[in-house]
Amino acid sequence: MEFCKRCLYTTAHPLGLVLDDEGVCSGCRVHEEKDSLDWAERWARLESIVAPYRSTDGRNYDCIVPVSGAHDAYYIVHLVKERLGLNPLLVTYNRYFNTPLGIRNLANLRIRLNCDILYQNVNPESVKRIVRSTLRRFGSIYWPILAGQTVFPVQTAVRFRVPLIIWGAHQGLEQVGMFSHLHEVEMTRRYRKDHDLMGYEADDLLSVFDTLTEGDIWQYRYPDDAALDAIGVRGIYLGNYVRWDPKAQHESMIARHDYASAAFARTFDTYDHVDCFNYMDLHDQLKLFKHGYSRVTDHATREIRHGRLTRDQGLALVRQYEQVPPRYVERFCDWLGMQPQSLRFMLDQHRNPAYWHAASPGEWTFRGWSTRQLDTPASPASPSSEAAFAATASRELDGGDRYITIGKGWPC
Ligand SMILES: [Zn+2]
Repeated sequence: MEFCKRCLYTTAHPLGLVLDDEGVCSGCRVHEEKDSLDWAERWARLESIVAPYRSTDGRNYDCIVPVSGAHDAYYIVHLVKERLGLNPLLVTYNRYFNTPLGIRNLANLRIRLNCDILYQNVNPESVKRIVRSTLRRFGSIYWPILAGQTVFPVQTAVRFRVPLIIWGAHQGLEQVGMFSHLHEVEMTRRYRKDHDLMGYEADDLLSVFDTLTEGDIWQYRYPDDAALDAIGVRGIYLGNYVRWDPKAQHESMIARHDYASAAFARTFDTYDHVDCFNYMDLHDQLKLFKHGYSRVTDHATREIRHGRLTRDQGLALVRQYEQVPPRYVERFCDWLGMQPQSLRFMLDQHRNPAYWHAASPGEWTFRGWSTRQLDTPASPASPSSEAAFAATASRELDGGDRYITIGKGWPC
């Protein structure tokens, strides 16, 4: 494992990352393009790409935009509707681990930006069966969410005959520089399978698990090539045409459209993932178990690249947050119908021996990325106020102690 000199990533990054002769990673190099590209020209290019998709008679939508009650949803809809002047159909896959704040944010988004929206609610029994299976085998509680949120927009494009899908940033480009902005990479079935779904599409689950049936997985099946070609479905990423900076974008959406943020136990970034009880909690701990680093390393790396944190400050934040225990494990066990001890046992099976050493039963020593980083000063200077993330609300609001499995709206 080798470290990038500039950010906190290593050559062990699961998306693949390379270092150049100067010891700087591909992700940092592609990030440099953000300060060298002519973004006015890139925007003009985007306008010409979307122009042919405008509905001429006003009888159909111009595009499909996948959304949630967090992530970059507000900014994407803002660009699509208020800057490009397109009429989008919003689509959202119900993840079931919903926080009251996420339900509120999603309701506020469609009201503020006055959009039509489609919800997909896959039946909870199938979702739970898949989660039980993928947790045991892959150490993942997120397969149905990753599969659902990447396939429902594509199914909707085919069903509604709306060929253009507009996504935010491409994770492979943003994190590890898998592509240049100028490659204008688009959505592919292959990237979804290899990176979003850990190599397993819906039909692959049937051959791996005898616990699942056709009835559990068919909603997650990707449309076939003939169906996609007949409509001309394509998915573009706005990050190729707009200088992507999630912190600045979320702050502008808090001011302009009343997006609400919230604090987390396991990271300093208050802006993303506020719609989910598990993403920055149990799911994030599993990432640490399997890959030796967690989401706070992604957040710190992003902020280092944007020049708001030094490498030392970022590493100090990683060490402060990454071992904080998840807070919502009981809620997850309640939902899945599993004892916390059984869950704990199962989670331990997924600790990667490259990063975890069992000194004695139940006693684990961490040997992950942050423990092997280049030498750093014991206490770096505090980050400047420019690096601060604001929490404007709490994920729980007054929603009680369960997930909001179906959330129709919010009084706002
Ligand atoms: Zn780097």
